[in-house]
Amino acid sequence: MELTICWLYGRTMNIYGDRGNVLALAQRCRWRGIEARVIELGVGEPLEPGRCDIFFWGGGQDREQVAAARDLQGPKGEILRREIEEGAPLLAICGGYQLLGHYYRPHQGEPLPGLGVFDAWTEAGSRRMIGNVVVESEEFGELVGFENHSGRTFLGPQARPLGRVRVGWGNNGEDKTEGCRYRNAIGCYLHGPVLPKNPPLADFLIEAALRRRYGEVTLPPLDDTLERLAHASAVSRAHSAR
Ligand code: GLN
Repeated sequence: MELTICWLYGRTMNIYGDRGNVLALAQRCRWRGIEARVIELGVGEPLEPGRCDIFFWGGGQDREQVAAARDLQGPKGEILRREIEEGAPLLAICGGYQLLGHYYRPHQGEPLPGLGVFDAWTEAGSRRMIGNVVVESEEFGELVGFENHSGRTFLGPQARPLGRVRVGWGNNGEDKTEGCRYRNAIGCYLHGPVLPKNPPLADFLIEAALRRRYGEVTLPPLDDTLERLAHASAVSRAHSAR
């Protein structure tokens, strides 16, 4: 079996360790004998329907978000939206997450239009929300990551949060939600990279991709001893830093 991982805007939206998520997805496939191919899709590069199995979109500063938002206004954005509707797994972090809501209003300039995959919207705030985050998710258990954003994301009535913040700011520092989910798409503020420290999240994306491409499959477990140690250490740092 093989999977293609599409790294959206990898050359321009790739901060706070987000590249590590692509490496983690590819390696957790390869450790199981699944061939993993990574393609990076930048501004102006077309998205071919059905070519990709997992989408990853990292964080970026406002300037890079302007270019990405413009790039997705048209056929490319429509194709990505349709892939998600058809069950394609996607993970978007911070700046990528913000542009999958209805809009992101930065400090300067006009609001950037989002794809509206998530019933959510983001307004730039007056303070940067920085630090380790611990989130309780019904589906994935305890998640840990690192956040650094000024955008405050608010969820609409159709939106389902990824989880509840136990330590840190999360979506907006007010309502204790973190992230958003729609079908197999997940957006969140967890940089770090998030996947190596949270193997259930990585395996969810891989399993959803395999199911969509090959039908029901059982993903053999991996020895996640090191990942669990890294997770526990990050959780402990999060609690002691607050
Ligand atoms: N520019 C956005 C913000 O500050 C996203 C930053 C990021 O991707 N870490 O909220």
